[in-house]
Amino acid sequence: MIHTNTKQVLFTPGPLTTPERVRRAMLRDWGSRDDSFVALTATLIKGLVQISGATSPYTAVPLQGSGTYAVEAALASFLARGDKLLVLDNGVYGARMAKIASRLGKSVTVQKSSDKEAVDPAKLDTALRDDPEITHVAVVHCETTSGLINPLAEIAACAAAHGTRLIVDAMSSFPILPIDFLTNPPLAVIASSNKCLEGTPGLGFVICNEIELFKASDNSPSLCLDLESQWRALRRNGQWRFTPPVQIVAALVEALHVLDDEGGPEVRRNRYQNNMDTLVAGMTDLGFTPLLPPYLQSPVIASFTAKGVQGFDFDTLYTGLALRGMFVYPGKVMGLESFRIGCIGEIGQDDILNLLAAIRELLAEPHSPKSL
Ligand SMILES: *Cc1c(COP(=O)(O)O)cnc(C)c1O
Repeated sequence: MIHTNTKQVLFTPGPLTTPERVRRAMLRDWGSRDDSFVALTATLIKGLVQISGATSPYTAVPLQGSGTYAVEAALASFLARGDKLLVLDNGVYGARMAKIASRLGKSVTVQKSSDKEAVDPAKLDTALRDDPEITHVAVVHCETTSGLINPLAEIAACAAAHGTRLIVDAMSSFPILPIDFLTNPPLAVIASSNKCLEGTPGLGFVICNEIELFKASDNSPSLCLDLESQWRALRRNGQWRFTPPVQIVAALVEALHVLDDEGGPEVRRNRYQNNMDTLVAGMTDLGFTPLLPPYLQSPVIASFTAKGVQGFDFDTLYTGLALRGMFVYPGKVMGLESFRIGCIGEIGQDDILNLLAAIRELLAEPHSPKSL
């Protein structure tokens, strides 16, 4: 039976299960140049900076598109001619930053490490000592590929000690894993509307220093993916350069209110952590193996292997769950049969328990994911 009208519960890292209040905020039209929308954009920018913990001269530059558009805009805009980027790659999103930088014609080098291990600040230190031409370092805070957390504070300290600037892809961790903007503040922190902020997809943003934005004119080879121009337009009259995603902006402003009502990022992080603890315990009970040791595991998303479940087939499990209105995610870790389950979005322990019960049921069926 296909439950087309039941609630769709997404156990994915975004788009994810959004609060109804957030979706309802989209049920009207806005003129993009009207005062009411200009005010809405200003509220959004202020709210994003506030939730990041950064203070003036940091600002938030919103950009149309998915998170990758914002990553590309940040790399395009903050790397000047003569700069050299070192990308710390321990997953798909790190690798993507290297690919973006190279497509943009920027000078880039990569330090690749295992998808199952955190980036090692000591190796970064060596790389920066060996290559004094490196001016910028890019890293992913929570690598959504596996779900691991990279040691951002240590990486920031190391980058600062060598006088290099840090660019952070905080897409799947912002704002629940805090970033220190006081000690060794990053040059840019990139995130999007549809992950831990629990908004709807279609908008990315970059938290960055306005003084650095001033210096970033003409760096970007792209007209659209140019943070400095986007920011300059917003500063001039509060309007977006090109058609803004008005409903998504409204939804994200509402999502910030929802976060506030929930008690802020720390309370939300505890909810996600509780989801994750329930998930990992339940999945382990069912015979699955978490990919990561607990000290590397973020509360955002977990990868599991089915080593302990004979003849397991992910596609069968996926379809069975989808028919129940539950959505999990295929794996992405290199060279490994795995799949992923997200703990973010408007989901709680009950949803996780329902998911675990559904997986248990599916594993017990005659044509179950394990009998194929
Ligand atoms: C989701 C995500 C992105 C951006 O993905 P989009 O599909 O472009 O929104 C980038 N980096 C990380 C770590 C992510 O989790």
